[in-house]
This record gives sequence, C-alpha cells and structure tokens, in this order.
Amino acid sequence: MNDTLFGKIIRREIPATIVYEDDDVLGFKDIAPQAPVHVLFIPKNELIPTLDDLQPEQAHLIGKLALAAAEYARREGFAENGYRVVMNCREDAGQTVFHIHLHLLAGAPLGHFGAG
Ligand code: 5GP
Repeated sequence: MNDTLFGKIIRREIPATIVYEDDDVLGFKDIAPQAPVHVLFIPKNELIPTLDDLQPEQAHLIGKLALAAAEYARREGFAENGYRVVMNCREDAGQTVFHIHLHLLAGAPLGHFGAG
C-alpha cells in the first residue's frame, strides 16, 4: 500500500533528509526548496491523496502536521521570526505528489502570495 513517492520515503526505500519524526508524522527537507527552510510534513500511517479526500475521522491528522511544523520551527529557532505553512490541493494549486502534505517555508521574508 501507499505507492506514492512519499510512501517510499516513509519506508526508507528512497533517501530523504528526515528532520522530524513522531508516531504519526514524518518531516523531511523538500528536494527543491522554495525558501531557505522548506520542510514537508506528512502523515505516516494513512494515505490521503488531497485535502479534498480528508474524512472527518482523519481531521486530527492535519492538526498533527501543524503541531509538528510548529514544534520544528521552535526547535530550529525561527518560530519568533515567523514562517508559512501551505497545503496545495490538486491542479490549480500545483499539487504534484498525491499524499497529503504540509509545506513549511521559512528563513527569509516570504512576501505575499496569490494568483499570478
Ligand atoms: P506539491 O507540489 O505536491 O504541493 O509538493 C510536492 C513537493 O515534493 C514539491 O515541493 C517537490 O519539490 C517535493 N519533492 C518531489 N520529489 C521529491 C523527492 O524525491 N524528495 C523530496 N525530499 N521532495 C520531493
């Protein structure tokens, strides 16, 4: 089960720089960082392709991704300066890996965002 790229990272079948792990969440550096800090947080035990597939009984997993990102930010010392978390859903958001994930971006002023 879980034959996405991120499933392979969870099973250590392909390498990744893992920077956070607990019972439910894995955090690893994005291979193509869009900011000085760019970490992806994913659920380890359930394959949820997109936010649109999230079921009510899985809602706590999104909270766990957010808590993991916040803990990592505090641990690495950039929580006070700030950071951004992003979850892309499907084509118009540019989602490329269909295993739900939270992007954590930090380490420099990030500017604003929007269409364009
Ligand atoms: P999405 O575009 O789906 O929101 O985010 C997928 C992210 O996964 C992208 O930022 C992309 O750079 C990252 N990514 C794609 N392949 C790999 C990989 O093999 N290893 C790692 N660490 N990140 C990857």
